[in-house]
Amino acid sequence: MTKKIQAIRGMNDILPKQTKDWQKVEDTLHRVLANYGYQEIRLPLLEMTDLFQRSIGEVTDIVEKEMYTFQDLNGDSLTLRPEGTASCVRAVLQHNLLTQGIQRLWYYGPMFRHERPQKGRYRQFYQFGVEALGVPGPDVDAELIFMTARFWQELGLKGLQLELNSLGSPESRTNYREALVAFFTKHQSALDEDSQRRMRTNPLRILDSKNPQIQDLINEAPRILDYLDDKSREHFDLLQNLLNKVGIAYKINPRLVRGLDYYTRTVFEWTTDQLGAQGTVCAGGRYDGLIAQLGGNTTPAAGFALGLDRLVALLKDKGLIESQTSVDAYLVAVGIQAEKQALYLAEELRTKIPTIRLQTNYNGGNFKNQLKKADRSGARWALILGEDEITQNTVGIKDLRGTQPQQFIPWNKLPDHINQQLKG
Ligand code: ATP
Ligand code: MG
Repeated sequence: MTKKIQAIRGMNDILPKQTKDWQKVEDTLHRVLANYGYQEIRLPLLEMTDLFQRSIGEVTDIVEKEMYTFQDLNGDSLTLRPEGTASCVRAVLQHNLLTQGIQRLWYYGPMFRHERPQKGRYRQFYQFGVEALGVPGPDVDAELIFMTARFWQELGLKGLQLELNSLGSPESRTNYREALVAFFTKHQSALDEDSQRRMRTNPLRILDSKNPQIQDLINEAPRILDYLDDKSREHFDLLQNLLNKVGIAYKINPRLVRGLDYYTRTVFEWTTDQLGAQGTVCAGGRYDGLIAQLGGNTTPAAGFALGLDRLVALLKDKGLIESQTSVDAYLVAVGIQAEKQALYLAEELRTKIPTIRLQTNYNGGNFKNQLKKADRSGARWALILGEDEITQNTVGIKDLRGTQPQQFIPWNKLPDHINQQLKG
């Protein structure tokens, strides 16, 4: 027998039973994004490799070891996007969106990182990305956080923890970096190999290490908040005031540095302890330097990315997504005449009831057999068309989920009848 080909490790199929859950979450997020006046932008999955190297930073997990990079037939180095902010900024600059007043954007789709696959960590995963461009003040940082809080509220999700930090300005970060290097140099022997290398290349990344053996040392390291410049301190205080005012609880985590280089000032993460090790559901912050770094005018910006795989898993674990059916009615047709008529009847119902989800039976089969299929489809009702119904111009309606006795409805009354039932 020919060997069956399997999907690539860490790249999952989302099967029909699951897509319903995803759609429900996606719909809620779309609605809330519209509440805040954000517009959707659709971006390519492939970009020039240079874009990510210049934005995410050479010495980050993503650029060092997680990118799917290859040469295309022209010899260009291309990369499957590992995140969306760089592409979004590229598009904004390429199409001059800022001069047209388009400043608030969102996008959704798969991202690709060559990580070790495990629960909540995949090689193709899905993110909603949200970016607010051109606003320097903490009000927009606050708005982004309000929006995420509203996501959870609309989804019925309780118990996520908001962690907050400020990375200050590039200048204050340089001072902090020196202090950090001095500290880790003193404790060099206690560091793992990765962290020793990072001490020379990107010491802030050490704080991001997931190695449990160096967590105690990391906890003793100097705190970035003690090195903030006055303006960044003020920005951070104002943000906290705004959050306090609307009653959003948060915890300041001075170790929160985020995995990408482009952040300045505000960084935040929403985490849960209910997903095992991969507990960050949503993460973001301010990136005032990135747009200039990618060739635009200096423009402040802030944004976040929300991991859908983790969010859907969490909602599912907590029983917050009900399984949805995909059909309302299943049309059973027994006999040659009925089979012929069924196709037309189904079309007519779809015309007259635009919201109906109606599946017709194919490949014949006897009555019992077709009813079984109707039941398995998850439909609420079986619509039954047999020889008798054809001669009497009626359709039988059998309630597959309740105890209502079967009814016979004349064809011309059927759309109204179904409409009533769907509303009820
Ligand atoms: P982590 O520390 O978990 O590796 P990160 O800092 O690399 O996360 P970001 O690049 O900020 O993550 O991405 C934002 C969100 O996207 C994460 O909080 C998470 O929900 C999701 N995410 C990131 N990488 C993956 C992945 N490999 N599989 C599933 N979801 C992911
Ligand atoms: Mg990561």
